[in-house]
Amino acid sequence: MSGIARRFQPWLRARQTEHRYRRTPLITSAVGHRVQLNGRWVINFAANDYLGLSEDDSLRQAVCGDSQASFGSGAAHLISGHHLHHHLLQDELADWLGVEGVLLFSTGYMANMAVQQALMQRGDTLIHDKLNHASLLDGARLSEASLKRYAHADMRALARRLQQADGQALIVSDGVFSMDGDVAPLPQMMALKEQHAAWLLLDEAHAFGVVGATGRGTFEYFAYEPDADTLRVGTLGKAFGVFGAFVAGTQVAIETLINRARPWIYTTALPPANALAARIALKRVQQADAARDHLKQLISHFRAAAKQIGLTLLPSFTPIQPLLLGDDARALHWSRQLLTAGFYVPAIRPPTVPKGRARLRITFSARHTFDQVDRLLEALEGCLRAES
Ligand SMILES: *Cc1c(COP(=O)(O)O)cnc(C)c1O
Repeated sequence: MSGIARRFQPWLRARQTEHRYRRTPLITSAVGHRVQLNGRWVINFAANDYLGLSEDDSLRQAVCGDSQASFGSGAAHLISGHHLHHHLLQDELADWLGVEGVLLFSTGYMANMAVQQALMQRGDTLIHDKLNHASLLDGARLSEASLKRYAHADMRALARRLQQADGQALIVSDGVFSMDGDVAPLPQMMALKEQHAAWLLLDEAHAFGVVGATGRGTFEYFAYEPDADTLRVGTLGKAFGVFGAFVAGTQVAIETLINRARPWIYTTALPPANALAARIALKRVQQADAARDHLKQLISHFRAAAKQIGLTLLPSFTPIQPLLLGDDARALHWSRQLLTAGFYVPAIRPPTVPKGRARLRITFSARHTFDQVDRLLEALEGCLRAES
């Protein structure tokens, strides 16, 4: 037996008996709200493609029709990888959000690795919500600042952390929490931020495109304006339906990232084709009022009907609707039953969520119909009845 096998075979076997073994489901159709998954057609309630833009063929056509939209950028941005499509996308995103500057990243994971490393120094303090996305936590590890966490959305705990903070404090939070779907209490956070002269990093991966009347995210939702010490991370792989990410902030913050952020400096730029697709996607996001409205109606219909059936949904008005089941095996069992009924809803288990908080993470696309949601509800009711 190899050394790697000797170390990890027992560990992998233990994951299987704990119902925590991870596998990759295979999609063999076009990506969308209906997919062929491991060989069978299912309605997809698992993607973060909230506006259905991954299914928008005009993006693919735009890329195919543009001879400059190559699939390789050839180098990092600072060398020879920065193309006109990157430049225009950054400007268009900055205009859309009303910020001075935007910097593109290849993934949200990398954007979150970059900001805390570039802005924070030894002796500073990062103050995180406990339910922050894993990439924000990994970004804290790459930074030399020390890390403190507060109980989810607990503003008194945040205030205590701010009082005790050494050096410059940076509050770090998801705008919309990825596994719970709830929104960070931004007005209280901004008040505390001001009181303690802290800075803020808000991860809008699940907010840009869908939250706020025109999809401009958590600040728009609360009718607040970000100040000069606020940076926001957006991703292009969720509501934008393509791939990539960006940081939005002031000119000086963006220039600091360009000169200091290792996860931006030492990596190949996104393909220009990808940047062009994202430019078209941004136009679609700006035109998506009807899609956002339909999505909102699907969600409130789903929540009202689920309550009547007796299902425990977490409090969320976003397209992330978690159904709390508690036990890992129970979550897996429900997910398998739903798959048999023709719906793909993944079971989310620890370590992605805390122990005893396993759940089905149901996500909606503006392409879903009321009929598809009703049939999902019937299948969920079937799971519940099979237990009693
Ligand atoms: C998905 C996600 C990321 C990572 O973005 P990618 O572009 O997929 O790397 C970051 N933060 C949050 C909250 C996310 O949900």
